[in-house]
Amino acid sequence: MPLCKGRVTKESLKVVFGDNKHYFYMESKCSNVVSTDALCSKCSSRNTTCSQSSKGFDHGCIDGVIPEKSHIFNGSWYKKAVKTYGEPSQSILEKAVDAKNTVDGLIEGLSNLSLEPVTVPKKKRTVRVKTPTTIRVITTGVATTIPVDSFVESMDEPLEVQDVIQIVLKPFMNQYWRDEERDKVYKNMNGKKGAYVGRWDSEKIVDCPDSDEE
Ligand SMILES: [Zn+2]
Repeated sequence: MPLCKGRVTKESLKVVFGDNKHYFYMESKCSNVVSTDALCSKCSSRNTTCSQSSKGFDHGCIDGVIPEKSHIFNGSWYKKAVKTYGEPSQSILEKAVDAKNTVDGLIEGLSNLSLEPVTVPKKKRTVRVKTPTTIRVITTGVATTIPVDSFVESMDEPLEVQDVIQIVLKPFMNQYWRDEERDKVYKNMNGKKGAYVGRWDSEKIVDCPDSDEE
């Protein structure tokens, strides 16, 4: 008397993916005896609405493909899910392959399963990078650069080093330079940029802390 070819699983064959949270099932086989080369009455009336571990869930036949909705190891659902939930631990994988091979071994002519490598996307790392900042000061067409160190806390991949702030200074009231963009006034030391003096409020120079010093 042949045995039923129904592919089944049960609660004790439930194992977790690499995230230790989401799970899939290892494969097993119905042990019912049938009179013809077919499924037992229980397996032939299965559906996909009950729980995966129930005998009523249709996981297909052991010599056929694993149905899309089945959460059994190495089916199409598993292959998609493993990319999201991570590859199971080595010991779980070995058990799942063993279970699969045991079932396959019951079917004459079926070769052992070979595991396809699955690429697990690497997690993004949080890095702290030092981003050099350069303040570029232009006076009367002569460019001078003043390097300023600053630290940037980054939650993403390292940023490109690109922070260049350009300040254009124009001669102002004979004895000053003025940064028109930010209305900052600096001393004019014989044509060169001198110390910060204050802010121009469109009437007079106001004593105001230099924001670059903050
Ligand atoms: Zn059966």
